[in-house]
Amino acid sequence: MGQSQSERENSIKEELKKLAYKNRWFIENRWTVEEQQENAKRVADRLLAIATGETVEPVTVTEAPQAEFLDVAVPDNFTPPEWLVKNDNFPIVGRRFSRAEFIEYVKWVRVNEHYTWSPTGITMHHTGFPNLSIRPNGFTEQHMLNMRHGYINDNGWRHGPHLFVDDHGIWVFNPLSIRGVHAVSYNSTRYGIEMLGNFDNAADFSHERGLSSRSHGMFAAAVLMKYAGISTAKLNFHRHDPETTKSCPGKHVNFSDFEEEVLAIVERV
Ligand SMILES: [Zn+2]
Repeated sequence: MGQSQSERENSIKEELKKLAYKNRWFIENRWTVEEQQENAKRVADRLLAIATGETVEPVTVTEAPQAEFLDVAVPDNFTPPEWLVKNDNFPIVGRRFSRAEFIEYVKWVRVNEHYTWSPTGITMHHTGFPNLSIRPNGFTEQHMLNMRHGYINDNGWRHGPHLFVDDHGIWVFNPLSIRGVHAVSYNSTRYGIEMLGNFDNAADFSHERGLSSRSHGMFAAAVLMKYAGISTAKLNFHRHDPETTKSCPGKHVNFSDFEEEVLAIVERV
């Protein structure tokens, strides 16, 4: 039925090649010890040669592998929630999504909303204030409305960060299809994700709720990479912005560890 033996072999070869090239990119761009890089590249090339029965010339992959946009249809029964505030001045979605719902929502937005910007990356933040103890049950829709009010009246902003994550789920704040405001140097190109907690503070960082909040942040970033066409090489922290002196998303949060976990989730979602 269906594919012949040789068609199956060819599709396996193609898949192996794709994975091997992706692997080479990670070795060249994410590893720091040159001698290890050389050894790992030799192993990767040899594996590829055995798997495909071809001698493969060593390749240097200069482009970051684009996370594959899985063209999976949005289920018929998925209905996105209405935006909490729909007018032109600081519209917000203002709704909380479970992990599974967030995946469907991101797919739905890609198909159904008109993008007025072209995001290419993701910048992570912590809320700092409020911290975990000020929000013992995470955020509510009223908190979303209050933050919008604060951004308008205290900051004079017309947009805000795209997502707030807490220990219960993922809140979409600024619509994904519209440019947000969260970090001077990255507003025009990157989604902003705010994680509930003050991770300059060891208590929030090591608290189970803090872990859960960061875990939702990692998940949300991975979903944007996989389903919204963001490159896996384009994750950064607010503190990487030369225009800020903030430690955001908190001095206890290590970038390499965080990024590694996000990339691992990309493979699973
Ligand atoms: Zn920040």
